[in-house]
Amino acid sequence: GYVARSAFKLVQIQKQHKLIKAGSSVLDLGCAPGAWLQVACQSLGPPNHGGSVLGIDLKKVKVPPLHCDSRVKTISADVMTLPSHQLRALSPQQKGFSVILSDMCPLVSGITTKDAALSVELGMRALDLAVGRRAALSVYADGDDNREGEQSHDDPSTLAETGVLQVGGNLLIKLLESEDAKEISQISKPLFRKSSWLRPKATRPSSREIYLICLGLKPEAEK
Ligand code: SAM
Repeated sequence: GYVARSAFKLVQIQKQHKLIKAGSSVLDLGCAPGAWLQVACQSLGPPNHGGSVLGIDLKKVKVPPLHCDSRVKTISADVMTLPSHQLRALSPQQKGFSVILSDMCPLVSGITTKDAALSVELGMRALDLAVGRRAALSVYADGDDNREGEQSHDDPSTLAETGVLQVGGNLLIKLLESEDAKEISQISKPLFRKSSWLRPKATRPSSREIYLICLGLKPEAEK
């Protein structure tokens, strides 16, 4: 079995969109307790098909969950502060990842606006790590310049971060429905061949959780 019911959301997304293929190099942000690691590893096919899964979470993952083999590795780190060059160093042959998943969410406070804002920060971080802060910023600057005023984006050491998602790669981000969440989707649109929303059937009816699915990162020149 799976260590959490969140597994069924990724199973459905995977069925509909085939994000992960045999041989994919997967980065799973916010991976604890490890259900998506299980689904991701299964999606790679048999071990002789290759591929890899790197999971990151603030919390330690009790490995190995069922269905996970030696292709799955996990580290404990804060995704908000982990620099992209360190992530790249952890990717296969330092070539980045072909799939990035983010199921990160803050501890829910119950205050709707606060939860949504934190969720957007985590989602934005996933997008930044995937496509590079500069790319995300330049697109953003076309429409709205709010982002540059944000405190977390003023740190010059992180301004030049380059993304760790390979050209052609796929990105999945969990968000809570809000205006800012829509904005993340607007930013992603020109960068990917296709981007769409999905609310998995396994999501509780009361939940405002929604997944942004971005397929096929375009080469730099086409963005
Ligand atoms: N996909 C996971 C699974 O299937 O087992 C469930 C993920 S759970 C819904 C969200 C996770 O995001 C939590 O384990 C939490 O610790 C993690 N998280 C939240 N903020 C984070 C951060 N800044 N860095 C790393 N992980 C974070």
